[in-house]
Amino acid sequence: MNFQEKIRNVPDFPQQGIQFKDITTLLKDGPAFRLAIDMLAKPYKGKHIDVVVGPEARGFAIGAPVAYILGSGFVPIRKPGKLPAETLKYEYSLEYGKDALEIHKDAIEPGCQVLIVDDLLATGGTTMATIKMIEQLGGKVTGLAFLIELSFLNGREVLAGYDVTSLVQY
Ligand code: 5GP
Repeated sequence: MNFQEKIRNVPDFPQQGIQFKDITTLLKDGPAFRLAIDMLAKPYKGKHIDVVVGPEARGFAIGAPVAYILGSGFVPIRKPGKLPAETLKYEYSLEYGKDALEIHKDAIEPGCQVLIVDDLLATGGTTMATIKMIEQLGGKVTGLAFLIELSFLNGREVLAGYDVTSLVQY
């Protein structure tokens, strides 16, 4: 399967100069979506993963089905003010701009084995913020799985020391 053919490139979104990789065209294609999820989950089958953590919002669409396949739980990471119970907050830099993320404080138990899943690795800022929150809560990050990796932004270097896998590289 050529996943690149299934991903739509949208120039100048959300800002001038950004080539946005739109995964909605892949998500709406049943066989492509299923294969992508199966391939993302495969390296972690048989490994002990307590929870998959996925950042809002595309990390939900990719992370939840991966968790289902692995028989793991799913923990959402959300923009500030969205999670109802007590949260841990972390501020970070994006490919475009600044942002903050939150996780429920009781979502990660000490010693919990975590797989982080997101649609796309760009600068690594979102993932690093997610790692910091998980580790602050006592979790252990076992792996990082992405549908897409923008290799030219060197996110992998920011995430050095962690096990990174991606299905499609640009
Ligand atoms: P980073 O923090 O690694 O710079 O950016 C990755 C985050 O921004 C991911 O959560 C991802 O959803 C979002 N993102 C940044 N650029 C793109 C893009 O071109 N396409 C998609 N689908 N998401 C992007």
